[in-house]
Amino acid sequence: SDVRLSDFERISVLGHGNGGTVYKARHRRGCPAQPLALKLFAAGDLSAAREAEILKLATDAPHVVRLHAVVPSAAGGVEEPAALALELMPGGSLAGLLRRLGRPMGERPIAAVARQALLGLEALHALRIVHRDLKPSNLLLGADGEVKIADFGSGKVLRRRLDPCASYVGTAAYMSPERFDPEAYSGDYDPYAADVWSLGVAILELYLGHFPLLPVGQRPDWAALMCAICFGEAPEMPAAASEEFRDFVARCLEKKAGRRASVGELLEHPFVAERDAADAQSSLAALVAEAEQSGDL
Ligand code: ADP
Ligand code: MG
Repeated sequence: SDVRLSDFERISVLGHGNGGTVYKARHRRGCPAQPLALKLFAAGDLSAAREAEILKLATDAPHVVRLHAVVPSAAGGVEEPAALALELMPGGSLAGLLRRLGRPMGERPIAAVARQALLGLEALHALRIVHRDLKPSNLLLGADGEVKIADFGSGKVLRRRLDPCASYVGTAAYMSPERFDPEAYSGDYDPYAADVWSLGVAILELYLGHFPLLPVGQRPDWAALMCAICFGEAPEMPAAASEEFRDFVARCLEKKAGRRASVGELLEHPFVAERDAADAQSSLAALVAEAEQSGDL
């Protein structure tokens, strides 16, 4: 690949993460000069190569952010990318949407998020890719209420269907109970089910407007999180929550990984029924438009 960092003109900052900074940028010789997202990594960040590898594998997967180009680093070439040029997701992340709205989201737009994230996960899991860091800041919004999974810096390609997949990667707050369990290191654990748990936490966060597994204001340190995730009860749902939504969340947040719903089962759940999908998606698009008017992305 012959793209260089200097080929890109940075327009604005889209977001920050552990990895580095993501810019809205354009390729100077791009024709037409279409804006894209340029994710810049710190020198030596091993997650850059991992993310590039996974995005290449998932290039045809629906509801996964597209990789346009891998920008090599001076020292390590494409083996240690300096940056990734990604499809620009103009609506930003769901964490950003929640912040800009200043209130929790309703069930309908959340159903659009859930359904599309599940379709993305279905395709990824079929490719033996686990994400391991699903959360609102890693779910991005396109035009028309479209949702795509992003940030594969913690992802992994499993060589066998059930590879031992321990290690505390990702964000502890969204980690499933079994991932805190040292016994999981034996390999007797389903990494796909861990993605379902994280999606459940993320969805509940959109509905409640705050991280759902700790009391508001409590510091999310390791001990508090482990205690709440492994031994705490599922959070109380507002009385307004529908039976379908409660059940959907409960199926994701089943503590025993073996009893948790699979992605395939959840796609059959009435909460994300296909016949309501277009409606749900336009209610999400309306929220994105509302948030756009209420301030910067
Ligand atoms: P990190 O690995 O540092 O968490 P992410 O890939 O999650 O990096 O990106 C950090 C933030 O940048 C996201 O939460 C989002 O707000 C923004 N972002 C990332 N990729 C894009 C994109 N393709 N389009 C628009 N915004 C993006
Ligand atoms: Mg991220």
